[in-house]
Amino acid sequence: MLTSDTGICIRAVDYSETSQVLTFFTRDHGKLGVIAKGSKRPKSAFGGPIEMFAHGQLTFTANADRALATLTGFEIEANRTNPASVSADLYVLHGCLLGVELLDHMTDEHDPHPDLYEAFVAFVADMCESAAKPSRRDTLALLILFELQLLMAVGLRPVLDRCANCRTAVGRDVRGYYFSSAANGLICRDCESSFHDKVALSTPVAACLTRLATIAQAPLRTLRDLEKVLLGHFAGLMHRAPRMAKYVLRVCPSS
Ligand SMILES: [Zn+2]
Repeated sequence: MLTSDTGICIRAVDYSETSQVLTFFTRDHGKLGVIAKGSKRPKSAFGGPIEMFAHGQLTFTANADRALATLTGFEIEANRTNPASVSADLYVLHGCLLGVELLDHMTDEHDPHPDLYEAFVAFVADMCESAAKPSRRDTLALLILFELQLLMAVGLRPVLDRCANCRTAVGRDVRGYYFSSAANGLICRDCESSFHDKVALSTPVAACLTRLATIAQAPLRTLRDLEKVLLGHFAGLMHRAPRMAKYVLRVCPSS
C-alpha cells in the first residue's frame, strides 16, 4: 500500500553503487527506515542522492515482512531546512548532528510524536538560519531548547520548579541547587547528600533551568555550563556519553 507523510532525513547510508538506506523522522509514522533504490543515479525519481536534513513529502510502500519500507518518491521542501545551510558552519553542523543523535536514541521506530517532529524541523530550520550569521551563543541556545523539548516530548520532563526529592518549591533565591540525573531534576541543598550523581549548579545555570524563557538571552558561558549539565543527564539516560558532546562543548579560542 502506498503511504505518504512528511519527514526529515536523519541518516543516509550508501547501500550500493546506486541506492541508499535512509532513516526519516516523519510526522505520522515516527522514525522510518527506507531503501531508496536508484537514488544515487543523477536522473533518479528523487533528483539525485538524498542528504541528511533534507525535508519534504515522502511516499513509500511499507512491507510487512521486511524491516525497511521502499521509498517511491520524495519531494524536497527547501523553504525550511536545507542540508547545504546546515553544513555551512561547522558548529551548527555539530549541533544538528548532536540533535539527531539524541532524537535517534530517545525515539523508537514507528512511534509517532507529531509535536516532537514539528519541534525538530523548527530546530533544524532555526539552525539553518543561524548558520548564515554564525554565533556560538545562538546555536547553543537553540540546541539547549531543543534538548529540553525532546525530554518533554518523550515523557522525561525534568523537575525544575521544585526539589525533585523533597518537593520544596524553588524560591527566588536559586543559589545552592544541584541537578541529579537519577532524580530527573533539581535537588536542594538539604537533599543533595543522598544523590551521588548530583552536579552543583552555578547560580546563572540554576536561574536558566528554573526560568527556561531566559535561556534565549543567556551569555555563552552560562549556556556552555548548562549544556554540560544537560549532556551529563543525557549520558545518564543513554548509559554513555553522546558521541557528539565533545564537539559541542569544545571551547574555541575565538568564542
Ligand atoms: Zn530537597
